[in-house]
Amino acid sequence: MEEGIDFRLLNNPVEILGYRNPDDPRDPKNGFVTGMRCIRMELGEPDAKGRRRPVPIRDSEFTLDVDTVIMAIGTSPNPLIKDTTEGLAVNSHGGIIVTEDGLTSRKNVWAGGDAVTGAATVISAMGAGKVAAKAIDEALSAK
Ligand SMILES: Cc1cc2nc3c(=O)[nH]c(=O)nc-3n(C[C@H](O)[C@H](O)[C@H](O)COP(=O)(O)OP(=O)(O)OC[C@H]3O[C@@H](n4cnc5c(N)ncnc54)[C@H](O)[C@@H]3O)c2cc1C
Repeated sequence: MEEGIDFRLLNNPVEILGYRNPDDPRDPKNGFVTGMRCIRMELGEPDAKGRRRPVPIRDSEFTLDVDTVIMAIGTSPNPLIKDTTEGLAVNSHGGIIVTEDGLTSRKNVWAGGDAVTGAATVISAMGAGKVAAKAIDEALSAK
């Protein structure tokens, strides 16, 4: 805000508009961003957890004049492992559920890092790795 950034909360991009010269396919401006269509959102009714999810306001679309778009998107765990691993418990965000030692619902399978917590940090992923390594060592040593 101090640097003059214009925060537009509850505005959702729906389409990035590009320049196209119908008379000249070799026009060097072809394909460059000219704008972004957005729709205004409002907070809907609270869900079971009390969270009010944004919902689009009908007929509220508008176009922003922009020439550069930088995506800053959230991340979530790749669903491949949960979809292909029988008996692996995951939470509603697809994160693998583990004990405090990193043990999953599968015997002798440990997990840690973003796949457990969702997008976090290198330090926390490394920490989870060390915790799981210790638990794996203890489990193997006990055999
Ligand atoms: C753009 C961006 C910037 C970031 N900047 C920072 C920062 O400045 N500081 C910071 O601390 N953190 C930052 N993070 C977060 C940090 O990168 C993650 O928290 C960290 O990498 C998580 O480590 P991880 O080992 O849990 O997962 P990952 O680093 O994602 O490693 C998971 C690995 O598993 C592999 N994999 C996935 N599915 C399978 C499969 N089915 N079979 C085999 N392999 C598979 C993937 O290819 C990947 O190599 C950033 C993240 C992003 C996206």
